[in-house]
Amino acid sequence: MNRYLMTPGPVPVSAEVSLASARPLIGHRGHDFSELFSRIEAKMSRLLKSGGKTVIFPASGTGSLESLAVNFTGPDTKVISVSCGVFGDRFREITAFTGAHMANVDVEPGEGVTPETVAEAVLKNPDASVLLLTQNETSTGVFNRIDEIISALPRNNRPLILVDGVSSVGAMPCYPEEWGIDGLATASQKGLLTPPGLALVWLSERAWDAASKRRCNNYYFDLTRQKKDLYKEAPENPYTPPVSLYFALDAALDEISAEGWFEQHIRAARSLAAGIESLGFELLVRDEKFRSPGVTAFSHPSGETSAIAKRLKAIGVEPAGGQGKLKGKLIRMSHYHDVRWPEISLALGSLYAALGDARGDAGDFMRRAFETWEA
Ligand SMILES: *Cc1c(COP(=O)(O)O)cnc(C)c1O
Repeated sequence: MNRYLMTPGPVPVSAEVSLASARPLIGHRGHDFSELFSRIEAKMSRLLKSGGKTVIFPASGTGSLESLAVNFTGPDTKVISVSCGVFGDRFREITAFTGAHMANVDVEPGEGVTPETVAEAVLKNPDASVLLLTQNETSTGVFNRIDEIISALPRNNRPLILVDGVSSVGAMPCYPEEWGIDGLATASQKGLLTPPGLALVWLSERAWDAASKRRCNNYYFDLTRQKKDLYKEAPENPYTPPVSLYFALDAALDEISAEGWFEQHIRAARSLAAGIESLGFELLVRDEKFRSPGVTAFSHPSGETSAIAKRLKAIGVEPAGGQGKLKGKLIRMSHYHDVRWPEISLALGSLYAALGDARGDAGDFMRRAFETWEA
């Protein structure tokens, strides 16, 4: 059966992107590959609004987080880790693994991280050299305002700000240079609408400088080693890159650059949320300001959330469930790709069907969602 994929990674990729990845291979030490690589770099620069380049590794998102951790933290560093869910916890865990001393700040699942919370932690830990943040917490559907958080930090003696942008880059604005992010980690299979397998890391000038002064305890993920080849006139990779995924990413970045792309995601998320609430579900993220444009998490007050998720799968729609403490308690639907009204009505219609003894009025939830869509 052809399933309608609604997991927050991997997300559905377009036919153009799939076809691009099926192109005949090219060697990675030649003019054609350098051209492909340069093209991707130029498109990433436009997406991130930065003149700096992006390191690309063959790894999943966790690999990009690990690369930030091993290049900037170790037994000699103190790290402030702000987490509002499973992925914040993972970034923390990877960083702690380097032997770093951790100062942990936890925000309740479903709640966003406020600028005050982070500013307070930074003031309380003046000896911390690194701060970990998550832009979009995929396990709860929380979207944190990284720009507002960084604006509220003291200007002087700031720790390096490392941001998990694995499920944000591509689907929502993320301007590391403009906002003052130092290290940004992302991956191919979420907002970048590409199959899984590429980890991407962007660094600020300050971070490149800091990295060059540290000894990285990891060979493959050493960013300084990557920089030499990346900044050549004809850019290269020190090791064999997954060329097919580069073809795919190059094609996907064209789709993402469409006019109004970010706004469209907000519109889709709002419309879907309106329909979900009308069906009697409860959204996990109560404060609209923190609702993710890419993934929506909700439960049913009957406690039947798991059973509803199972029925959804049985009728051909594949969302994700809860993670960690929220396992079995959530349905998470992603909307990273080009989601328009047909996709929203498919998701809502399927939820209605999966409710079985359908509470709510079909006409009403569709009307509310459509009105929100049209608003
Ligand atoms: C998916 C995700 C990760 C981990 O990515 P993998 O590709 O599964 O390794 C990390 N952080 C966030 C916010 C994510 O959504």
